[in-house]
Amino acid sequence: MPVTSLGGVGPKRAEQFQKLGINSVGDLISFYPRAYEDWSNVVKIENITESGIYCVKAILAAPISDARIGGGKILSKGSVYDDTGSLQLVFFNNKYISSMLTYGIEYFFYGKINIDKYGAQMVSPTFSPVSEGERIHPIYRSTAGLNGKTISNAVKQSLKLLPPVVNDPLPEQVRRTFGLCGLKEALYGIHFPKNTAELEASRERLVTEELVVLNLGMKNLRSHSRGVSPVKITQDYSAEFSEYLPFELTNAQKRAVADCVNDIMTKSSPMNRLIQGDVGSGKTAVAASVCYTVIKNGYQAAFMAPTEILARQHCDTFKKLFENTDIRVELLTGALKESEKKRVRAGLESGEIELVIGTHALITDKTDFYNLGIAVTDEQHRFGVAQRAKLLSKGKNPHLLVMSATPIPRTLGLIIFGDLDISIIDELPPSRKPVKTVLFNSAQRGRIFGFIKEEVAAGRQAYIVCPLVEEGELDDVASAEEYAAELMLKQFSDIPVGVVHGKMKSEEKEAVMKKFADNELKILVATTVIEVGVDVPNATVMVIENAERFGLSQLHQLRGRVGRGDFQSYCVLISDYGNELTRQRLEVLCSTNDGFKIADEDLKMRGPGDFFGQRQHGLPQLSIADFADTKSLEKSQKIVDYILFTYHDIRCDELKLLNAETERLFERGGQNTLN
Ligand code: ADP
Ligand code: MG
Repeated sequence: MPVTSLGGVGPKRAEQFQKLGINSVGDLISFYPRAYEDWSNVVKIENITESGIYCVKAILAAPISDARIGGGKILSKGSVYDDTGSLQLVFFNNKYISSMLTYGIEYFFYGKINIDKYGAQMVSPTFSPVSEGERIHPIYRSTAGLNGKTISNAVKQSLKLLPPVVNDPLPEQVRRTFGLCGLKEALYGIHFPKNTAELEASRERLVTEELVVLNLGMKNLRSHSRGVSPVKITQDYSAEFSEYLPFELTNAQKRAVADCVNDIMTKSSPMNRLIQGDVGSGKTAVAASVCYTVIKNGYQAAFMAPTEILARQHCDTFKKLFENTDIRVELLTGALKESEKKRVRAGLESGEIELVIGTHALITDKTDFYNLGIAVTDEQHRFGVAQRAKLLSKGKNPHLLVMSATPIPRTLGLIIFGDLDISIIDELPPSRKPVKTVLFNSAQRGRIFGFIKEEVAAGRQAYIVCPLVEEGELDDVASAEEYAAELMLKQFSDIPVGVVHGKMKSEEKEAVMKKFADNELKILVATTVIEVGVDVPNATVMVIENAERFGLSQLHQLRGRVGRGDFQSYCVLISDYGNELTRQRLEVLCSTNDGFKIADEDLKMRGPGDFFGQRQHGLPQLSIADFADTKSLEKSQKIVDYILFTYHDIRCDELKLLNAETERLFERGGQNTLN
């Protein structure tokens, strides 16, 4: 039904509605209010002694009078009274007002009251006859020419068009079990609640339904995903591999390895697993162990990292780990010489190279494998799902291992990675000392530099992350270099300082990084290119300028560059934050080293959009639920489990409507990119 089928909605109105994305009566019904005005606290006129927002219950004393003022505008005035006093009403430029208010009738008026020497005046209040009894009033997102009152009237009419019994996507049994109200009730209650309790019940019902639909959708993606894997792993070599490790795996690492081994040995479909572990939790060793088992069973392994530096560092690590084995490890990145790339590609095609570490060069058309058995991606948030898929397409349904240090709040992770099984490494290697984090302002820089000098004198190294402009901007380079030059000349004239920034060629970056890793450079000034992965255990100080410009999770990642060895490490946040909220945000970092806690806070403060970067999470857009609403997320998961348990077949009749909703949600989001 088009909106024009409603009374008072002609083609012009319809056009205005369209601007809000509303075409049909159905769209109107699901055009939920963005906020509510609570009129339940009615104030007597005599008690209003200060300007402010009030709700009064009063009778219009005489018809509203219109007067023309300058520029053809209209000023409408009226007077209202209750049993304690009277009040002036004024409306600007609304020629309909006089016909909308009837004298002698009692209304609720809600709005701003100004008090001056001439008395009290209420300016353009919203109103509703007391006889209609509504106390909580919906506020809608509006657009030019279309005000809240018009929208709410149209919604009211639309709701009246609902059939006596509305088909409910949530089966009655589910609603009963989880204490959720019916759909029709919820739709009335979300637009025109009689009281706060009704509003809350309606909201809960609609939010829960949307998250259930989302959850089911993600589960569907996962179950359709990947067929049978021809990669046959018959023997577990992880115990043998532990002989090559210079340390004993933590229990959490062992569990993660066991999860993977179980996936690849006992399941017919390929492994689809995410290893989530805080920075420094030792994900690389887990991946190495699993790769070792796959390779020993006669297959190749590919390990993809997001940056050149990281790929090289991983390659060095793997080469060392596999030194005493017969496994051949090679690097494949864009920066290699053409002849070198050719050589590595030939080795991959023939199968001579069993383990390759690389960047995006791994997924170009030129790279082919002999028999790829497992694909690993590190720092998964840096890769699109398409790139993950591309890497997988290099083999015949190979196993997939995805690693992420971005601690995504657990409940959200379950949805976002709905297509992946998750192992969490929630334990750091022993002997790690937690990094001490402090917050300073820029006036205290001198003290911080003094501290760096002391640490360097004691043999340690330091990172300084300088203020970054926009990523990729020229200013970025200029600022990093200028800042470093200043430091070298003035502060650290007798200490070797290096600079890395985003615009350097990868060989240049590599050279500087290597010098820092080899302890030739004592201080590394950098933009966030050091964000991921680099491992220099001797570095004990991380100074971050303009800390307020970074997200908490990003700061946590940066902090993870230190505290990787046996020395006590420090993270110094420098910020002239100026406002209390920023200070509180940064204090979170000072108070905990728990990446999950930080991620939760980050999510609460910034919302998932910022948290993951623009659209990076690839989730559909929600109309009423909120990704940061952990409680509802958890509830929806319970409901989905209940549904799957109760109805066995997801395609059954009782779930038809719910399935249709699932399809709709994912169409609306325009992407089911997680597959
Ligand atoms: P991340 O999870 O951030 O990728 P890495 O795999 O880079 O962490 O490991 C961080 C550091 O911890 C490395 O230097 C690695 O050698 C070391 N490490 C990993 N596991 C252990 C362990 N079980 N015991 C001691 N050190 C470990
Ligand atoms: Mg890592």
